[in-house]
Amino acid sequence: MQLRQDAGLDELRQRVRDLAARHAPPRQARTGVRAPEAEDIPALRKWTGLLFAEQLLGVNWPVEFGGLAEPHPLHESVVLTELVRAGAPGPVGGGLLAAAAIISSGTAAQKEYFLPRIRSGEHIWCQLFSEPDAGSDLANLRTRARQDGDEFVVDGQKVWTTNGQHADWGYLLARTDSEAPKHAGITAFALDMTTPGVTVRPLREITGTSDFNEVFFDGVRIPAERVIGEVNQGWAVTTASLAQERAGAGGGASLFAALDRLVRLAGDTDRDGVPAIDCDDIRQTIGRLATEVHVNALVSAFGESRLLHGTGDVADAPASKIMFSEVNLGLHEFGFGLQGQDGIRVEGDPEVADDGWWQDGFLYARAFTIAGGTNEVLRNMIAERALGLPRG
Ligand SMILES: Cc1cc2nc3c(=O)[nH]c(=O)nc-3n(C[C@H](O)[C@H](O)[C@H](O)COP(=O)(O)OP(=O)(O)OC[C@H]3O[C@@H](n4cnc5c(N)ncnc54)[C@H](O)[C@@H]3O)c2cc1C
Repeated sequence: MQLRQDAGLDELRQRVRDLAARHAPPRQARTGVRAPEAEDIPALRKWTGLLFAEQLLGVNWPVEFGGLAEPHPLHESVVLTELVRAGAPGPVGGGLLAAAAIISSGTAAQKEYFLPRIRSGEHIWCQLFSEPDAGSDLANLRTRARQDGDEFVVDGQKVWTTNGQHADWGYLLARTDSEAPKHAGITAFALDMTTPGVTVRPLREITGTSDFNEVFFDGVRIPAERVIGEVNQGWAVTTASLAQERAGAGGGASLFAALDRLVRLAGDTDRDGVPAIDCDDIRQTIGRLATEVHVNALVSAFGESRLLHGTGDVADAPASKIMFSEVNLGLHEFGFGLQGQDGIRVEGDPEVADDGWWQDGFLYARAFTIAGGTNEVLRNMIAERALGLPRG
């Protein structure tokens, strides 16, 4: 493992900080990857456009679509980490995921139409993959797309669609051949979310917010030219975009910020007449959590170093994501529990600690153990693909 300073990346970090200080709309006070409020969308489109225009994002794209000739392998992960550190939002929606699919498998016309509009922030995308009976076992999906002349007619339902309520376009997976083995008969589409027959219904979550949606399709007509890749070859198309999702999921900058908050909370919380931070057992636990936050940073750096030197393996990204999500969960559970019965206070209560940030984070933290592949499924992946253990 080789970790060294890289002057080029330091300069990049500074560029992100400067841009965020001058132009970033305020980040939501809530933790995690949350859907914005409708009134924030125009500013977020503009901000997304600026991140691309400054060549902070989309650097791995073909040069004719704004990519860099020789992008640093860590460029985008450094940018996304610095945005978290600066308290600035990331790009809105799933444009990077959709772009990965279009770049790897789309037609020239699709690239020319979609990529500049993703770059400018004009098109917000959502990912229409998961269904009520197809999450971890995504290939079980049942939404049907039947060819009718030069169109496909789609019927079915998706769920957990982040930003579905704001999206202009959906990156859709649907079954086009129900006789074929289940991974084989799936096709990827670009779906205009304003097409008649598309109904988006926001889900209200335990956090009180609506980050996800159910999306229903009732006789939705998609022109055949919006198929991404070949008909029945959608499984291969998704591989590119899921790799992008997992690569983006492991950033640990937010853990250091949560640790700072935890130390402040323990200083402000009364425990039997003294600040909780003065109690040995609390200090022990905070010390353990701080160690885990640092180890998480090292695990991420280890994966990045191996990526840079071409020595990475299939366990790196899943191990990093498992570690991040479990350290994050541990921090939030402890911060929530530290408040004792005051933990039941919520956002809006004048007495609630940290404006209810801990309560929201506690309720949301499990989402990171599920998104981008559940931790159980990622553990299977490490066991089977990295260690060569028999398939369960
Ligand atoms: C924050 C967040 C954002 C999301 N955004 C989107 C989005 O924009 N678009 C989209 O399409 N989807 C999205 N999802 C959905 C996500 O992809 C699914 O939740 C995920 O794939 C798990 O599927 P599931 O919820 O159906 O759970 P299931 O697959 O039903 O799993 C239920 C439980 O069984 C366990 N399990 C399942 N299979 C195995 C196995 N083989 N071995 C051991 N344990 C197993 C799982 O780990 C889990 O604990 C999002 C989810 C989250 C949390």
